[in-house]
Amino acid sequence: MKVLKSHQIDDLLKPLLRKGKAVALTGAGISAESGVPTFRGRGGLWEKYDPEIFANAQGLLSTFRLKPVEIVDFLTDLYSVLLKAKPNPAHFALAQMQNKGILDCVITQNIDDLDSLAGLDNVYELHGNAFRLRCQRCLRKINLNREKLAALIKEMKNCRNSKWKFLKLFSQFFPKCSCKDRFRIDIVLFGEMLEQDVLSKAYQAVKNCSSLFLIGTSGVVYPAAGLPFIAKQNGAKIIEINDNPSELSFISDYQILGKAARILPLLIKDL
Ligand code: NAD
Repeated sequence: MKVLKSHQIDDLLKPLLRKGKAVALTGAGISAESGVPTFRGRGGLWEKYDPEIFANAQGLLSTFRLKPVEIVDFLTDLYSVLLKAKPNPAHFALAQMQNKGILDCVITQNIDDLDSLAGLDNVYELHGNAFRLRCQRCLRKINLNREKLAALIKEMKNCRNSKWKFLKLFSQFFPKCSCKDRFRIDIVLFGEMLEQDVLSKAYQAVKNCSSLFLIGTSGVVYPAAGLPFIAKQNGAKIIEINDNPSELSFISDYQILGKAARILPLLIKDL
């Protein structure tokens, strides 16, 4: 693995990019500079909430039954951050790469919707999207309206001491589908299966790419962390962009250590 300084990008990475067929695998780090802390990092959600409970369907359900106010706090904390977040230069650089025909797709582990806000349209969201609901039975999906969601979250925060009121708000947050079952947030919780169709498309993309950019991922969450191995087996070059070495550094051909929002715009400059 070769550790690159920013000034070596022109000589070593741009020729690779000009070949096209690049794919980006992104993790929480790409959105850190958009104000969404990595969950495991300082100020992250898991400092305050135990992921064994709050990232787990059974844990959420039993907390909802026993201490619903904790779910109110969790949802308001999560969405206060997500609603404020805006795409940063790293997301916009990927969108530019896609517009130039260099980047085939983005495979993201993020649930923050920042790729689509940046104008990217070929995005495989492995862990779902917090701005979408899916019916638990028929799997129909609906997008959440940001303005309505912000108003609902604000109302929920204000009535956290009135169980009756916030239970009413919950049923607005998670409405019933036409099949009579209830919608839930369309994200993949711990122990749940990834959507097979999305995962197959991601496998296909990494099999066919010439370069795979690993951006802001620690490489500890599977099956996402297995994708770089498939790309490598199929002859792709692996380029890691992360502010620290990760579990995937050892299979990377090139590594650039630094913030994604600073490095990615350098990749597309004069391309
Ligand atoms: P992770 O938190 O395990 O790792 C983040 C990685 O990004 C680390 O290696 C860290 O060193 C690096 N990093 C932090 N800031 C960076 C920056 N500015 N530039 C470049 N690199 C930076 O994230 P993961 O690998 O995506 O796994 C965490 C899981 O939690 C994922 O499944 C994801 O779904 C979820 N998550 C999502 C969001 C989001 O949607 N934005 C946020 C937190 C967690």
